[in-house]
Amino acid sequence: MSEQENLMNCDQCEQTFRGTACVSKGICGKDPDMESLQKILLYGLKGMAAYKAHARRLGKTDVEVETFIEKSFSRL
Ligand code: SF4
Repeated sequence: MSEQENLMNCDQCEQTFRGTACVSKGICGKDPDMESLQKILLYGLKGMAAYKAHARRLGKTDVEVETFIEKSFSRL
């Protein structure tokens, strides 16, 4: 893996390097692959949550979907 491929830009918690972002390996030990996968999951969940909010405005709710989204966010 080249040095370029090994870079990341993680700002997912308050422990981030110098208060900006962990850029090569996280202070927590997270590597760039895990950081990328978590971002993909996060953006997917944010999209699901946006559609859930639109559905709610239209009067539609689904407890199973809401539970899934809440549990998933809490495990990232
Ligand atoms: S790599 Fe770890 S310590 Fe750094 S910001 Fe992300 S979650 Fe926090």
